[in-house]
Amino acid sequence: MSESLFYARRSMTYGRPGNERQIDRGQVFDLQGCVNDEKLLRLGYVVSAPKRATVVQCGTCGAEFITDEGLAAHGRERHATTRSLTPREEDDRADKKLAIEDEIAPLDLTKTAASRGYARTK
Ligand SMILES: [Zn+2]
Repeated sequence: MSESLFYARRSMTYGRPGNERQIDRGQVFDLQGCVNDEKLLRLGYVVSAPKRATVVQCGTCGAEFITDEGLAAHGRERHATTRSLTPREEDDRADKKLAIEDEIAPLDLTKTAASRGYARTK
């Protein structure tokens, strides 16, 4: 258990190799001491939450979020699918999501050679 609370400013995949999970925007989670933790913090993918922050919890899967808005977006994305999307629709939706995140949570890309889209680099 880490003392500090962290949450993701961008949706991403996080975890040790073989044990990754999808983290949504605004989701609270524990940093696990992965090789990329420092980079995630430096680039602004992950920020520490205020000590007194109240978190809201997803009633379906138990994921915790720093804002109601983050929880709502998570619910729409993870639990409100009424039909399966075609691969094309999935792509469109992923593009839109990235565009929105680029706008509300821009990364400082001068600090990395990598372009957008965090990938497990190791
Ligand atoms: Zn959920």
